[in-house]
Amino acid sequence: MRLDKFIADTKLVTRTQAKSFIKSGLVSVNKKISSQAKLQVNPELDSIELSGLTLSYQKYIYLMMNKPKGVVSATIDRDSKTVIDLINGFKKNDLFPIGRLDKDTTGLMILTNDGVLAHNVLSPKKHVKKTYRALIAGVVNNDTIEIFKKGIILKNGEVTKPAKLRIIAIDEVKVETYIEIVIFEGKYHQIKRMFGAVSMRVKELQRVKMGNIVLDENIELGKYRELTTEEIQKLR
Ligand code: URA
Repeated sequence: MRLDKFIADTKLVTRTQAKSFIKSGLVSVNKKISSQAKLQVNPELDSIELSGLTLSYQKYIYLMMNKPKGVVSATIDRDSKTVIDLINGFKKNDLFPIGRLDKDTTGLMILTNDGVLAHNVLSPKKHVKKTYRALIAGVVNNDTIEIFKKGIILKNGEVTKPAKLRIIAIDEVKVETYIEIVIFEGKYHQIKRMFGAVSMRVKELQRVKMGNIVLDENIELGKYRELTTEEIQKLR
C-alpha cells in the first residue's frame, strides 16, 4: 500500500495533508525519513511515524449509526437510499450493516468491514439480544407480556423464542402503548409479526440496543460515529 494512503487511513489526517507531511520530511518509515508519498509500505511489518508518533494501521472500521426512516439497510439498492449512502469518507465501499432494519425502522445500526465480527454478532448460536422501543396500536397488558414470554406462534406457524416485553406508557385515549421489547433472534419483520400475531400493529419502531451496545442519544438521525474501543470489545 502507498505511504500516503496508509497515513490517511489512520483518519488522523486527510490524504492531501498526508502527502504534504511526507514532502515536509515529517514521516519516517522504519526510522528513516521518507519523502515519497508513493513508497510502498506493509501495514503489518513497517513501523511508520508521523512527527515521532507511531501510527497503527486501522484495518477495520466500526460505526454506530442512528438510522433514519426511508433508507434501506443494504449496501446497494436500485430505488432507495442505503445506509452506506449516508457515510462520507472512511473506506465506505468496504462497509456493510450488521443485520437488517426495515425501511421504516429507526435507530441503532452498526456498520463495519469486519466480516468475522459481523458473523459472530449475527450467529444464531450467540443469541445476541436486540432491544427495541415501539409504539403499538392497541393496549398491551400483562397477558400480552406472558404470551411474549412463552414464545409466540406467528401467522405462518413459526414459533419465536421467549421475548421480554415491558410497558413504558399506555395512552388509553389514543389506545396506544409505548413498550420496550428484547428479542434473542432475528426473524424477518420479527417485532411487527409478533404484534400482528396478537392482533396489534407496530406504528413506530426504534432499535436502541444490540447486545450491550446502546444507541448514543447524541447521534442525530442519519448521523454516525466510530465505536469506542470498549464498545468494540462488547461485540466480540
Ligand atoms: N422487527 C421488525 O419488525 N422490524 C425491524 O426493522 C426489526 C425488527
